Amino acid sequence: MRELLDRALGAYLGFAIGDALGATVEFMRPREIKLQYGVHRDIIGGGWLKLPRGQVTDDTTMSLALGEALLQGGHPALINHMNGDDTLIRSIGQAYVTWFKSKPVDCGNTCRRGILRFMHEGTLQGQPNPGDGGNGALMRNLPAVLVTLDNQAHFEQLSLAQARLTHHHPLSDAATLGLGHLLRLLLAGADHAACQAWVSQWVADNPSFRFTPYRGRATAYVVDTVQTVLHYLTLYEDFEAAMVATVNQGDDADTTGALVGMLAGARCGASRLPNRWLRRLNPDVMRAITDQTYGLMALAPSQKGSAHV
Ligand code: MN
Ligand code: MN
Repeated sequence: MRELLDRALGAYLGFAIGDALGATVEFMRPREIKLQYGVHRDIIGGGWLKLPRGQVTDDTTMSLALGEALLQGGHPALINHMNGDDTLIRSIGQAYVTWFKSKPVDCGNTCRRGILRFMHEGTLQGQPNPGDGGNGALMRNLPAVLVTLDNQAHFEQLSLAQARLTHHHPLSDAATLGLGHLLRLLLAGADHAACQAWVSQWVADNPSFRFTPYRGRATAYVVDTVQTVLHYLTLYEDFEAAMVATVNQGDDADTTGALVGMLAGARCGASRLPNRWLRRLNPDVMRAITDQTYGLMALAPSQKGSAHV
């Protein structure tokens, strides 16, 4: 149980580290990053959002909004959701609305469109839309994985429902489920070799995401995002090496960084995250993530006081 908590905390803190580190070089080309920073490897803020050092962006704050809604709903809401009650998903939609109204530093176009649709029409998803292939639903799914660790069917239903609030696209769905499954595997203790084996099987089953040879594209299109994340996650076992390589690929660097941080952080655990990055992370964000991780883990019933996993 202590190891599982360490891995869960490693995932969430790793996610925020990647967001804070990558935001500095978001939308830059690798060549521009090289000219300006050599190799970008420190949490220094700045970037197009002009962030204070250690601050995170929409990736982390939207995840925290989802996690908060899940905590407030509690486990009964999850069970009701499985029985067709939409209260939990409505409260998640409401949490995204509240987040949006709080004037976050950034909000992707597809997220904005979906949140406004929910606000004005009250619908839990829009029509399938070829324009919904961005990574915005995938990027915020971590809390849904943590709260459903005990039950794979719950994980799949909840992940898809929270994703569809803003993104209705088969590749967004596939990516959200795929990286979610991989996170579950790593939280259960899979090592680097098991991670590589799972990934190669998954891309064989989902050939749109095949990343060999790696094309070097790291945009917010969910295919580019997933290819970049899986490329660097399977190339480097070391958290820091995987993270530095990922964010120096530029483009949607805060999001690719966050997702690599989540998966590599689950693989190594919070106790092995680089201290120089942890120390730089905004203390309020650090506290919110720590509290939420413990809360969400406690909600998954079979985890309570159990010795397994
Ligand atoms: Mn962001
Ligand atoms: Mn981004």
